[in-house]
Amino acid sequence: MNQVDYLRISLIDRCNFRCQYCMPEGAELDYILKQQLLTDEELLTLIQEVFIPVGFTRFRLTGGEPLLRPRVVELVRAIASLPQTQDLSMTTNGFLLAPIAQNLYDAGLRRINISLDSLDVDTFDRIIGNRGRPRWQQVWDGIQAAHRVGFDPLKLNVVVIPGVNDHEILDLAALTIDRQWHVRFIEFMPIGNGELFGDRGWVSSAELRERIRDRWGLTESQVRGAGPADVFQIPEAKGTLGFISQMSECFCDRCNRMRLSADGWLRPCLLNETGQINLKTALRDGISITQLQEQVRHLLAIKPEINFKGRDSGTLGAYTRTMSQIGG
Ligand code: SAM
Repeated sequence: MNQVDYLRISLIDRCNFRCQYCMPEGAELDYILKQQLLTDEELLTLIQEVFIPVGFTRFRLTGGEPLLRPRVVELVRAIASLPQTQDLSMTTNGFLLAPIAQNLYDAGLRRINISLDSLDVDTFDRIIGNRGRPRWQQVWDGIQAAHRVGFDPLKLNVVVIPGVNDHEILDLAALTIDRQWHVRFIEFMPIGNGELFGDRGWVSSAELRERIRDRWGLTESQVRGAGPADVFQIPEAKGTLGFISQMSECFCDRCNRMRLSADGWLRPCLLNETGQINLKTALRDGISITQLQEQVRHLLAIKPEINFKGRDSGTLGAYTRTMSQIGG
């Protein structure tokens, strides 16, 4: 197993998009009440006094939509300024990014992943469940702002859904040719919207690579991330193509992460719900910091077993939480 030193932190379960693969209709009815969310102070206490002492040094802020979290820039500054923080990144849909990209960068955020499932305005709106004014341009402006400000690497996440956006694979891949952007194709998982998954299924990374290889050729990239993506490159391209193949491959042995939900549940494995601990309740009940560290250490020790054992039942079984609730 890899060393587990990477924590994905969901800042909020709310989202301003309703991506059809992530939030089935009505999912917003289950939003966490404000008093159930970890406060800034609780979150910083957990990071500083529990996670860092047990070995976590790399953090990603996600959601829901992390830019909806009040005082997100201050939170970034606080986490980035901890001497033990070796890496701080964010995953966002980019819609609210343009006006605060510089502030986030100045606060210490250096790496950003932006979801972009389509280059077509109508397809994009259909995917994100938008019924109002078109939203693609504002997201694109957010991506451009992130690029201008200097986020590096700048990654674009694409969830591929058959019959919805799989015809755009080559156009999305082509974004990496002239720009030092990194496009990552993610296999659609049956988390969030099982019905759509049953209806549409998923496209394997191998098939996507085949299509790209047929068009331009494809070489394995020298760049190796610490995470689950297999990284390739169109010959001579400035950027790279990552493939995250959690459906077609088991990369549990490469897993280096845990997830903290916005209401304080620590989850050792995305694909199953075994072993989660409720750190918020423990903290509010006055459980000592030493005991919390012990609980997290124990979870780290049994994580390999949870990952491998739960994998099959996890990918096939029903999920009680969507990606927006877990912290995708
Ligand atoms: N709102 C932010 C965003 O849109 O990037 C952050 C949260 S979102 C849940 C994080 C990532 O999870 C996105 O890249 C999204 O595409 C991915 N995701 C959500 N549901 C998924 C699913 N069922 N299968 C694969 N990826 C999924």
